[in-house]
Amino acid sequence: NIVFVAKEITDDETRVAASVETVKKIKSFGFDVVVEAGAGTLSRIPDSEFEAVGAAIGAFTDAASADVILKVRRPSESEISGYKTGAVVIAIMDPYGNDEAVAAMARAGLSTFAMELMPRITRAQSMDVLSSQANLAGYQAVIEAAAIYDRAMPMMMTAAGTIPAAKVFVMGAGVAGLQAIATARRLGAAVSATDVRPAAKEQVASLGAKFIAAEDDEFKAAETAGGYAKEMSADYQAKQAALVAEHIAKQDIVITTALIPGRPAPRLVSRAMLASMKPGAIAVDLAVERGGNIEGVVTGQVADVEGVKVVGFANMAGRVAASASALYAKNLVTFLETMVNKETKSVVLNLEDELIRATMLTYAGDVVHPAFGGAKK
Ligand code: NAD
Repeated sequence: NIVFVAKEITDDETRVAASVETVKKIKSFGFDVVVEAGAGTLSRIPDSEFEAVGAAIGAFTDAASADVILKVRRPSESEISGYKTGAVVIAIMDPYGNDEAVAAMARAGLSTFAMELMPRITRAQSMDVLSSQANLAGYQAVIEAAAIYDRAMPMMMTAAGTIPAAKVFVMGAGVAGLQAIATARRLGAAVSATDVRPAAKEQVASLGAKFIAAEDDEFKAAETAGGYAKEMSADYQAKQAALVAEHIAKQDIVITTALIPGRPAPRLVSRAMLASMKPGAIAVDLAVERGGNIEGVVTGQVADVEGVKVVGFANMAGRVAASASALYAKNLVTFLETMVNKETKSVVLNLEDELIRATMLTYAGDVVHPAFGGAKK
């Protein structure tokens, strides 16, 4: 079998779907690996390093003979047209609201897998791209904020006077939010955080941050069986907004990370709230790709909204590309390994496997994922 590691064509994509370590691993399955020239450049992996562990360096046209294509982003129509029928394509597919793009992959006869649909069960923890990337995004959000904050983050008591610790408020305490809390704490900030899931309260406290939330009956029932947040009622959102409005006025830096699976991001910070913040305040919106938690956020930019610098960088994990690629590649190869028959040295799809069922979007010409209009075969 031939595994092709694609060079990403999306403008802001700095990551790559393989590392030196994972190429070695794929070779150990008995597969040949072709890496598209320059695929690792932005993640600081030169072609020569891939070559040194036995990969061939190729061109996009080599994708045509590949049995497995590893990518970061869903392939475009033009990329798809270069793949052979029956090829397995594994990537972050972003299928929600992109029915036509999913259908196009089905028409091309590709077996496609969306890494972000990986179930959050123990067996699949090492394949969880949402966690591996969100963790780095949470870290990087704090670094970006610190870089444009015109003050120091930690309290400094010097002979020339005292600098107060920055007040950082993290909204949404999932994987990204918890890492943002930890990172801001390491920089010496005074950190508070909010979430709608009651389980987050203890996690926030264990990181040494203060938990802020309207803890009513709806809050107590706000976590789904899968551990995700529910979309909250208008009544709860109003309560939460009142509490946040009061708290945010005293903050120097706000970092928002709130998401609800399959839904637009909840709007948590209004223009009026931004206007109430101190001069020089910073806000970072990690939910910008899903519509944003902050009113006025502009994708890909640092926008001045009501005197606050609002950071709207998409693909925050991609700004720590070398680290993000290393973890993403590891997630991918671990999943690929579950499909490998080591005797025949080939990929065999077990359609009954829980991980395959959860992530497979298209197969044998059809959209098969029930959440995207498919009926399971
Ligand atoms: P996410 O990216 O879907 O959302 C980020 C956070 O935003 C969540 O904590 C969510 O509760 C919060 N949020 C949603 N609406 C909000 C609102 N209106 N106000 C404030 N906060 C709001 O979540 P995630 O980071 O993927 O994590 C979700 C859960 O899954 C967490 O409990 C996490 O620990 C858990 N998890 C489990 C595993 C596993 O078991 N393998 C792996 C990763 C994460």
